[in-house]
Amino acid sequence: MPQQFANFINGEWVESPEVSPNINPSNLDDVIGEFARADAEQTQRAIRAAADAFATWSLSTPQQRFDVLDRTGSALLERKEELGRLLAREEGKTVAEGIGEVGRAGQIFKFFAGEALRIGGEIVPSVRPGLTVEVTREPLGVIGLITPWNFPIAIPAWKIAPALAYGNCVVLKPADLVPASAWELVKIIAQAGAPHGVINLVMGRGTVVGEALVASPLVNAISFTGSVATGRAIAARCVASGKKVQLEMGGKNPMVVLDDADLDVAVEACINGAFFSTGQRCTASSRLIVTEGIHDRFVEAMKARMVTLKIGDALAAETHIGPVVDAKQLQQDEDYIRIAREEGGEVFGGERVPGASKGYFLAPALITGTNNAMRINREEVFGPVASVVKAKDYDEALALANDTEFGLSAGICTTSLRHATHFKRHVQAGMVMVNVATAGVDYHVPFGGRKGSSYGPREQGSYAREFYTIVKTAYVAS
Ligand code: NDP
Repeated sequence: MPQQFANFINGEWVESPEVSPNINPSNLDDVIGEFARADAEQTQRAIRAAADAFATWSLSTPQQRFDVLDRTGSALLERKEELGRLLAREEGKTVAEGIGEVGRAGQIFKFFAGEALRIGGEIVPSVRPGLTVEVTREPLGVIGLITPWNFPIAIPAWKIAPALAYGNCVVLKPADLVPASAWELVKIIAQAGAPHGVINLVMGRGTVVGEALVASPLVNAISFTGSVATGRAIAARCVASGKKVQLEMGGKNPMVVLDDADLDVAVEACINGAFFSTGQRCTASSRLIVTEGIHDRFVEAMKARMVTLKIGDALAAETHIGPVVDAKQLQQDEDYIRIAREEGGEVFGGERVPGASKGYFLAPALITGTNNAMRINREEVFGPVASVVKAKDYDEALALANDTEFGLSAGICTTSLRHATHFKRHVQAGMVMVNVATAGVDYHVPFGGRKGSSYGPREQGSYAREFYTIVKTAYVAS
């Protein structure tokens, strides 16, 4: 009988009538547990608990909030090996990547523990005599957090930590596919001393739990990460009901490789950016835009490096690339590989790999001979699939990089300071990488994109306060 995992509502573990099995994508016979699937009524209870808790948590001292967040961060760092394995088991990234992600979640809590102490304000002289103006920040209220499956602990962490640091209460709906890491995180936050109702976990379907969060008049703001279609639909409803909303969505991130690039540096940046974490990162380098002089050498070096990558069980020490997360995503990856081939692209790799266990193993695919108008270069695949677009020179490469509806991350590999400097200024992306992969970011600086990739204030770093607080301006007569 698999272990049962309940929702966490108002400080209590609450079972649901329905459960969902959490299956290891490296080994479909391995069931991690059965996780509650809440209904709309349970979601309402969690929202009400958060609204009730807000009355006291919003007035708690910075020290109280620091203590809860700091203890959470310490527990995550202490348990990162164990939780990293759990994460790898439920999502399919390698154990090293899983441990790295849990460590990152721990650091995020430590960072926002400090931020709780640093909430300041401004005192501004009034333009009128006898008055002083004070500008301060206050928490918003109840925040609904809706998170995707590809970073099962880091994304919940980078939304929960600032929400709590600034005095808000939270209802978290993790991805239905990977609830185990989020479940452990919420348990740790509760054990770290978060009062009842301050953090609530409601697991289940987006169409039930997510919908109920977006619809509730007691929820003051929604922070969402996931697909463009779902994000845009949520934003429209939040705007209509006056909720604050923040979206992080897809990418079709370009990595430009110029003739003067260090070939080894470029290949490592592209292998990492395109294929690590099975390409299931919104910052993945899915378009490799390569100038003519280096194109053929680059493609050959990529292929030579790709055949050295070991695809297999996420929990095996020798694995470089774990499985695709589920059957639906595998189908999507294979559909795009087929579409690219039908459009005239030449596919290297991209075939299913037999494993020791039943799992969704797919070899990374490099698609050459593509142009930027093809669907493979316009739509997010979200798998270990990258295409190569040949460019005449730097100017054309930059134009191709910007010819997309997305704008999350962009990279350039070059030894030219002039081109690197120009690219940093002119590429239309929220994050720019020079001689380093488009994926993989620090935890203490802003994260987010432009154009169709993001909406609303940035996440992470001190910039997170723009979303999780509201400004008050007070006029005081002396
Ligand atoms: P979704 O956008 O559907 O899911 C993201 C989150 O939103 C999940 O928690 C989901 O719940 C929830 N959700 C779904 N429908 C609703 C709704 N109507 N109201 C409120 N919440 C909802 O993405 P998927 O996980 O289905 O992945 C689909 C594609 O999205 C991927 O193939 C990939 O292309 C892209 N994606 C992009 C990510 C990014 O970071 N850029 C991250 C993940 C996916 P539930 O778990 O029940 O589906």
